[in-house]
Amino acid sequence: MGKITGFLDYEKQTHGTRPVAERRQSFAEFRLPLDSASLQQQAARCMDCGIPYCHEGCPVNNIIPEFNDLIYRDDWHTALASLHATNNFPEFTGRVCPAPCEASCTLNLIDEPVSIKDIECAIIDHGWQQGWITPQKPQQQRQERIAIIGSGPAGLACAQQLARSGFHVHVFEKSASAGGLLRYGIPDFKMEKHLIDRRIDQMQAEGVVFHLNCHIGTSMTWSALRADHDAIVLACGAEMPRDLPLVGRNADGIHFAMDYLTQQNRTIRNEQHSDTPITAKDKHVIVIGGGDTGSDCIGTANRQKARSITQLEILGKPPEKEDKNSTWPYWPHKLRTSTSHQEGAERLWSVATNGFVTEDNRITALTIQEVRWQNGKPEPTNRTRTLPADLVLLAMGFLHTRHDQLIKESRVKLDAKGNILANDNDYTTSQTNVFACGDTRRGQSLVVWAIREGRECAQTIIKKFSQ
Ligand SMILES: Cc1cc2nc3c(=O)[nH]c(=O)nc-3n(C[C@H](O)[C@H](O)[C@H](O)COP(=O)(O)OP(=O)(O)OC[C@H]3O[C@@H](n4cnc5c(N)ncnc54)[C@H](O)[C@@H]3O)c2cc1C
Ligand code: SF4
Repeated sequence: MGKITGFLDYEKQTHGTRPVAERRQSFAEFRLPLDSASLQQQAARCMDCGIPYCHEGCPVNNIIPEFNDLIYRDDWHTALASLHATNNFPEFTGRVCPAPCEASCTLNLIDEPVSIKDIECAIIDHGWQQGWITPQKPQQQRQERIAIIGSGPAGLACAQQLARSGFHVHVFEKSASAGGLLRYGIPDFKMEKHLIDRRIDQMQAEGVVFHLNCHIGTSMTWSALRADHDAIVLACGAEMPRDLPLVGRNADGIHFAMDYLTQQNRTIRNEQHSDTPITAKDKHVIVIGGGDTGSDCIGTANRQKARSITQLEILGKPPEKEDKNSTWPYWPHKLRTSTSHQEGAERLWSVATNGFVTEDNRITALTIQEVRWQNGKPEPTNRTRTLPADLVLLAMGFLHTRHDQLIKESRVKLDAKGNILANDNDYTTSQTNVFACGDTRRGQSLVVWAIREGRECAQTIIKKFSQ
């Protein structure tokens, strides 16, 4: 273990951030990492508690006590190997993971948890800086060809594992660039996209072939793909957004959050698109939905110089602090204030939207109604308000995978929620040698879960073709 008294000697420290006024001027990342001496102290806080709940709390089961100890002992190279043993892309999770590991940390019961996510991010960033991360080509090439549909974190993790095992791996992606929601959903200020490009280069050198702008079901039929591959992995995400079908929904100025966020991400990378521009500049912006996608809309709207931003959430305001004795080691229900919230937005809880006000088919205002939660249900009250609105962003979550031509042609069965039916033991679907992993199977989730599922799905395929 690290330093026996580390958790008594050192206070928790996390990375810093650039001042709000400065970061609102730019889409660049604004994290200010801890220096290596401070990180060693933070790693020394790990108690090596015997049963590492953090390891179980991490969906990819990162071997957290081990890399904490290695960093305390200044052995960054071995720490990198330990981290890569369970996680293909720690530079993604080290930036955007909500860190359920830290909620599970034993030290979190009585104090502040170990800064696991910062340590993870520092190990991988250091590894890249040192040039330690190079392509890992397979020792032997196999005959089988595997097609992966979708290049989000699930598809990428699956592809990398399979290519390193010698399969011929072809990734088909309908967008112009690989990365899925990492590229087109998550804004640059949370994660800059050169981090994805670097991994794609590595994967290409390992033998993965990317077919971009290739929409399976449209640009290429399912049967053509099937005929040319021994197995197919569906890693298509869960893109179907929840709508708010009130009168006036089709008025100008009301958009799904993903249409808005994708456009900004494309603009940053000078990617051509024919969509009508959506901007928050000088507008009263209302974000409907209090989750992470909504928070990303706030950060984006602030950078586009919105006049005002209001975020609406139908659920009640969570408690400021969790009751650790009843929630630990699980993910606690508590108020979460993101860096985007810190940059400025009014947040309203227990409110439902009950009308879009339009003029000449353009949104001008929104009527909202306060609700009271009783027996798990929102009861409308007689308190209503009208909020001025020039841009309304619908960020109310995602229903399921998109039921497009691919789903129809492949004839894979869907589950009750509308996602692709496959279990998480072997990721097999109702069709022979067709597998599904990530959000397309489990519904909209997290990057770290997508990586886990991509890795496990690859493992099933490796086993299957090794019999
Ligand atoms: C705005 C936003 C912010 C988020 N922020 C975070 C965060 O901070 N932290 C976190 O952990 N998670 C976050 N998430 C969730 C996370 O991004 C997803 O859970 C994760 O990306 C899922 O990975 P995936 O590979 O399963 O699917 P996706 O990332 O959705 O990738 C699916 C890919 O499949 C492609 N595709 C679909 N159909 C076809 C087809 N027929 N032919 C070819 N290609 C196809 C799509 O274009 C896409 O590239 C966020 C989600 C959103 C929407
Ligand atoms: S991937 Fe997420 S849960 Fe796992 S160690 Fe990193 S921050 Fe923690």
